Amino acid sequence: MELFDVYTTYDIAPVSAKGYYLFDGEGKKFLDLYGGHAVISIGHAHPVYVKKLVEQLDRLAFYSNSVISPLQQQVADMLETESGCTDYSLFLCNSGAEANENALKLASFYTGKSRIVAFKNGFHGRTSAAVAATDNSAIQAPINKQHAVSILALNDLVSLEKTLENGDVAAIILEMIQGVGGLDEPEPGFLDSLYKLAHQYGALVIADEVQSGFGRTGKYFAFQHFPQQPDIITMAKGMGNGFPVAGLLIHSKIEAKKGMLGTTFGGNPLACTAVLSVIEVLAKENLLENATKMEAYFRKKASALSLPLQVKGKGLMLGIDFGFPVKDLRANLIYIHQIFTGSSKNPNVLRILPPLNIDEQALDQLFDALKTELS
Ligand code: PLP
Repeated sequence: MELFDVYTTYDIAPVSAKGYYLFDGEGKKFLDLYGGHAVISIGHAHPVYVKKLVEQLDRLAFYSNSVISPLQQQVADMLETESGCTDYSLFLCNSGAEANENALKLASFYTGKSRIVAFKNGFHGRTSAAVAATDNSAIQAPINKQHAVSILALNDLVSLEKTLENGDVAAIILEMIQGVGGLDEPEPGFLDSLYKLAHQYGALVIADEVQSGFGRTGKYFAFQHFPQQPDIITMAKGMGNGFPVAGLLIHSKIEAKKGMLGTTFGGNPLACTAVLSVIEVLAKENLLENATKMEAYFRKKASALSLPLQVKGKGLMLGIDFGFPVKDLRANLIYIHQIFTGSSKNPNVLRILPPLNIDEQALDQLFDALKTELS
């Protein structure tokens, strides 16, 4: 049977990993500055993660949501304490797209409206409403295009107000740092007005933290770089360090009734154990602080390249805009220097989304390779 052709792949097949390194079948070692697309948060095969998951697998791998789950409550309690998001309830599901789909659905239930406002270069996943809110018509089928969506330019306040004035907007969904789009961010003044306008016109604000959450930007969630609180926060990727798990935090002002959302696999014991391990390790190893420290080091090293470039992003959700397409550079980094990096919709941006426990030595390896390639 042939495999469905999902993405263009590199000709590399990793078979094992440890910390921030991947190994192929011949023992070739790769520096992982991509983290499987911002998924590996606490590092590959972290001992706490492995031990807890193995023990849980032995104890109880799965049961449905028709029984009480003390592990789910532990996740909610630890997440509240560690993230400081104190006025929310937690719904657990399985992927970033599913989290956004549920968030949009909930906003529509709550407001009785159906229009979504999203932004140019935003990415929210591939399910029905989530992909409709994604700025890429090539991945939308006719069934997705039935949703009422307004895709606006980021920071365009005039268009935002005009759209909200129609009174049919259920939700504004945005990434506080655009991942797939290429690390652009809303301006603080725009965000401030966005929250005010959303509340004025009765729309909910959904922060898509699927990529930027769980410490990636140096804060628990990227929205915490700003003063306002979203109505719904969606999360996935780094939350499970590779175990498929996602969730949404729902503000207490939203009357989310039983039956509005549901899931078979969401919040299963293994998924909860993965999240609990991630939360524990993020705190014990001060990985949010490390992300901030590594950002400063990355910026210092980038400026020492003495090239006309722009560093974008925050924490360890970073990139360099070189002002020329980086496709060949990325290929050389991986095939010659054995370093995985990330790309984006912006062809000129080389991204890094490494495990949050990388150190200066890992970044030195990248910048030494960059120096060689750019000379
Ligand atoms: N939202 C953002 C910001 C993302 O970056 C992604 C994936 O890259 C998604 C949603 C979709 O997540 P998933 O692939 O887990 O469905």
